Amino acid sequence: MSAIFGPAGNPEAFYESGKKASVEMPAWLADLNLSAYEYQCSRGVHVREETARAIGLKAAQYGISLSIHAPYFISLATEDEKIAANTQNHFLKALTAASWMGADRIVFHIGGPGKQERKAAMARAQRAFAAILELAEKRGLTGIYLLPETMGKQNQLGNLAEVLAICKLSKWVIPAIDFGHLHAVTGGAYTSRAEFAAVFEQVGEELGADVAGNLHIHFSKIEFTKAGERRHWTFADVYGPPYEPLMEVCAEQGYTPRVICESAGTQALDAKTMQDFYWSLRGGRA
Ligand SMILES: [Zn+2]
Repeated sequence: MSAIFGPAGNPEAFYESGKKASVEMPAWLADLNLSAYEYQCSRGVHVREETARAIGLKAAQYGISLSIHAPYFISLATEDEKIAANTQNHFLKALTAASWMGADRIVFHIGGPGKQERKAAMARAQRAFAAILELAEKRGLTGIYLLPETMGKQNQLGNLAEVLAICKLSKWVIPAIDFGHLHAVTGGAYTSRAEFAAVFEQVGEELGADVAGNLHIHFSKIEFTKAGERRHWTFADVYGPPYEPLMEVCAEQGYTPRVICESAGTQALDAKTMQDFYWSLRGGRA
């Protein structure tokens, strides 16, 4: 067992090499020795069944593990009935696309608290999400993990404790730990091995060693202000967090996460940089 690495969406180098369609990504990633790909539905689930199935076939052929990023419009704590109905729909459409594609995980943002107090907003989000889980089961959209993501801005729901609370609703809900976001929202923490290790330990205590050992991780260098995340940068830029201590913790503890790089434009190259470093710590591939 090994950690696996890959990009969120299609990097600039993919298009510069003359490629155009996501169905070409699995082969392109395999050429780079990468093994994961997060397909972006962040502006809505628009992928057609035929395309989704074609991407899934290529991913299986080239040994690429697929996940989907759900629409940014999801808002579990909303008090607006129309937005709540749309939120349900975004989940059902993402689950349907994932089943066509053979993607085993869907990452989503919990959303903002609106004018509600944070605690009340979380209670509402949990109720709404439980109803969505029930609906998905009724529709037969099962066997796909749903992953609330740790967020980078103070005014978004999704700090580590909130994400773990949502995960307790079902064994099909596991966390997506975005270390760039954790770095931004804490004003620059997550630069040391101890800080990274503490996240795995907390996940292990609350959700079990198996979840902690196989985390879904988002990683990018990130610029932040007092309010949190400002923008994602690349590994060539000066921003934190550093990936080395995270890779050291994974290699030493035998964790085998799926690490999705969200660098701006260089996400495949930077995923490979992390993978090379991780493999060097393990004394080679595998
Ligand atoms: Zn995200």
